[in-house]
Amino acid sequence: MSSKLQSISALRTLLDEKKASATELAHDALREAGQQSSLNAFVDIRDDLTLEQAKAADLRLASGEKGALLGIPTAHKDIFVTQGWTSTAGSKMLAGYQSPFDAEVVSRLNAAGTVSIGKLNCDEFAMGSSNEKSAYGPCLNPWDSLAVPGGSSGGSAVAVAAGVVPFTTGTDTGGSIRQPASLCGITGIKPTYGSCSRYGMIAYASSLDQAGPMAHSARDCALVLNAMVGFDAKDSTSVQRPVDQEDFTAGFGKALRNGDVAKPLAGVRVGLPAEFFGEGLAADVRAPIDAALKQLEAMGAMLVNISLPRTELSIPAYYVIAPAEASSNLSRFDGVRYGHRAADYTDLKSMYENSRSEGFGLEVQRRIMVGAYVLSHGYYDAYYLQAQKIRRLIAQDFQAAFQQCDFIAGPVSPTVAWNLGEKSADPVQMYLADIYTLSTSLAGLPGMSVPVGFGDKNRPVGMQLIGNYFKEGELLALADHYQLATDWHLRTPS
Ligand code: GLN
Repeated sequence: MSSKLQSISALRTLLDEKKASATELAHDALREAGQQSSLNAFVDIRDDLTLEQAKAADLRLASGEKGALLGIPTAHKDIFVTQGWTSTAGSKMLAGYQSPFDAEVVSRLNAAGTVSIGKLNCDEFAMGSSNEKSAYGPCLNPWDSLAVPGGSSGGSAVAVAAGVVPFTTGTDTGGSIRQPASLCGITGIKPTYGSCSRYGMIAYASSLDQAGPMAHSARDCALVLNAMVGFDAKDSTSVQRPVDQEDFTAGFGKALRNGDVAKPLAGVRVGLPAEFFGEGLAADVRAPIDAALKQLEAMGAMLVNISLPRTELSIPAYYVIAPAEASSNLSRFDGVRYGHRAADYTDLKSMYENSRSEGFGLEVQRRIMVGAYVLSHGYYDAYYLQAQKIRRLIAQDFQAAFQQCDFIAGPVSPTVAWNLGEKSADPVQMYLADIYTLSTSLAGLPGMSVPVGFGDKNRPVGMQLIGNYFKEGELLALADHYQLATDWHLRTPS
């Protein structure tokens, strides 16, 4: 038996009915990961550690304990530090690094009884949109091995899409959960900034970084998010919610507003930003999204035209703010406090220089230089401060839009997955591909990607759904209604 194509609830049934043990599911997932090793989704696998967790889960199951995730296999993006498995952030800088503790999100999932199969490939320090910037080699899209899986959480998307595990963790700073989910035909959600603790998430851009689940369906994402979110005093930006342990599946199966079974989305207004459906959107991406919007309409939703006028500015604003924060966050990797130390150096300065030049890849070095530049005396006001002002205006634009609608819908990526190598020589081309995801991140809003069909070369297309702050419960319920009526999220690569 394989965990391929199986949802969390299907595996739950197997475990609860004693048709499989957590150990058997773990063996299946490890075998599957081995058979699909050419995808390069995993950067560290340790059977002994996995089986230890599985054994502990089986003991808890045998004692009669219940839990939505108890005994369910998973795997973590290599941005999360983990005890036992190495924690490298996809970088040579941290090759072989052993963390003395688990990231908070990982601890919470461990406490829920999940069984980790290992660590997942990603762009170095989560900087990238294709997973090609990993020091451990690119990861391949299971739908088409010529295509990138998206990034930076490429390994997280691939492990789910390829049927190795039913869910994974990812992180999203400017789209890194939503975009690989879209390009690999799975479901992923970035919750409101501050929902999931950043403690133990190797920092890229701290005011944007946010963890979230990637799985086949909105239902599975909700189950995982239940375990991931919650206040954590160890993260200074962690948010204390009014109801700290909200059940994100609570609204599932119910009409969202004043609808009924036939029209569960009646009274729901879905905003379509003109800027998300303009020129740069490829026709083969637009067609399945248009069809999905029709489906929402058929279920009672009202489509309203809205505007997010500063969408285009999200690219320059993000690519100033994120590198600025990265240049600060990555200063700790100097060969002394953390990270790789060069073998050859003559004095302190050359030790820093050689260690950082050898440890960091070129994209990371580019961002550190951009970040240091925009923060430097004389340029701070011209670039960094301006970008922060734009960020505030972008957040205000969303609030104005949410006066007219309850949710916002649009594409995740302007095109389907591109070919490996196609954009890697031109960083600007790669940055432009983030156009539809960056603004949500800058505003700190929850956003998700839902599979809605296929474009050119039969490569998957995702639709983005954005909600207002802390509306992830409704967002997931909306996506669940769509998924009850369609089967795109159930398709798997052959
Ligand atoms: N592609 C964006 C970047 O390179 C977003 C990455 C992310 O969300 N981690 O910064």
